Amino acid sequence: MNLATALLKPGEADRHAAGHPWVFSNSILRLTGAVADGDVVQVKDHRQRLLGVGFYNSKSKISIRLLSPDRVAIDRSFFEHRLRSALAVRQKHLPEATSYRLVNGESDFLSGLIVDRYEDVLVLQTSSLGMDIRKAEIVSVLRDVLNPRVIIERNDQAARKFESLPVTNDVLFGDAPASLPVKLNGLVFDVDLQAGHKTGLYLDQVANWQAVAQAARDAVVLDCFSFVGGFALHAARAGARSVLGLDQSADAIAAANRNAVVNGVAERCQFEAANVFDWLKARSMTGPHEKLVPQFDLIILDPPSFTRTRAAVADALRGYKEIHLRALKLLKPGGTLATFCCSHHVDSVLFQEVILSAAFDARRMLRRVATYSQALDHPVIPAIPETEYLKGFAFEAVR
Ligand code: SAH
Repeated sequence: MNLATALLKPGEADRHAAGHPWVFSNSILRLTGAVADGDVVQVKDHRQRLLGVGFYNSKSKISIRLLSPDRVAIDRSFFEHRLRSALAVRQKHLPEATSYRLVNGESDFLSGLIVDRYEDVLVLQTSSLGMDIRKAEIVSVLRDVLNPRVIIERNDQAARKFESLPVTNDVLFGDAPASLPVKLNGLVFDVDLQAGHKTGLYLDQVANWQAVAQAARDAVVLDCFSFVGGFALHAARAGARSVLGLDQSADAIAAANRNAVVNGVAERCQFEAANVFDWLKARSMTGPHEKLVPQFDLIILDPPSFTRTRAAVADALRGYKEIHLRALKLLKPGGTLATFCCSHHVDSVLFQEVILSAAFDARRMLRRVATYSQALDHPVIPAIPETEYLKGFAFEAVR
């Protein structure tokens, strides 16, 4: 194997020795040997000690994505080995599941590759050039290991522009249906394979849908940012008296309504296309001598990430505080607030601080009764902090 070498500046090696796969352009001292974008390079510290091998891309701020600490060939058998290990993790932790995230990029030591399994359909996303140009090989290994009916490429995510990759959606193998009924926790969700968010569903929340529903028995439930009804349908099945789901996407609301019918809970579920900020504001405003009568027993807040960068954290915190303050005003004493934050830049300590400050302003006292994380098919690798992003809490309003 004749590989070009990237030598790192002094002081830059430790985080990679500890397992972090992203080598930023400004930590490289020099490149020796000929290398094209997408090639495999070896990475060494300034004393020439090997740190690993990975994909190179001069066009990305992440110049190298390490794939292995050893000098292995990045070939068919490498991908097969990594995919089989990823599959084993899911079989161990989610033995009953037929739909799950099979490969979660850095969490599975395959930076730049995501593969979701929806029943017998696989949906693939490549967000690094090195992975992108090896798509055919990856598809061939996926066919061997999982024997799927269809493999789809959903490469319409914004992150591709950081690697100068074009946006493309395609069918890589088989005949793709427009949508697919997918079973999760015994409920059926209609997945739009060509246009749904992410690859179709928020699979990172699947375990939390079930956990939050424990507080839904006989409850009047408000599911904010409901998407296609993950929390709402689980709450209805668990015996909620009524469930109202809100999302700004008309397509998501239409799908949520179809899902409610298919699962036989339509008479207790209602979904409305609305901006949650506006809706909560309108419902929680009071006139000068008016007293607000809270009506909800369980409120779920699962907003999109309000910040993708560290720089915008302050704005994001204002957004989080606003929805918590308003939601708490609508929550009955004794009721439950289940709330989530999917921004890596807002950690659970900071997130809870924002909630507490909203509770202070709303004059509510909270009792924390549960903490949530991302599902086990989105493994957290503590040595790679970016793999941990989803956190949530359930609070009961003491008063
Ligand atoms: N709870 C869902 C996932 C929610 S993802 C689940 O578990 O499957 C965030 C959702 O918020 C998206 O569906 C998006 O359409 C919606 N959204 C984003 N901003 C919004 C806003 N201001 N008001 C209402 N919905 C919004």
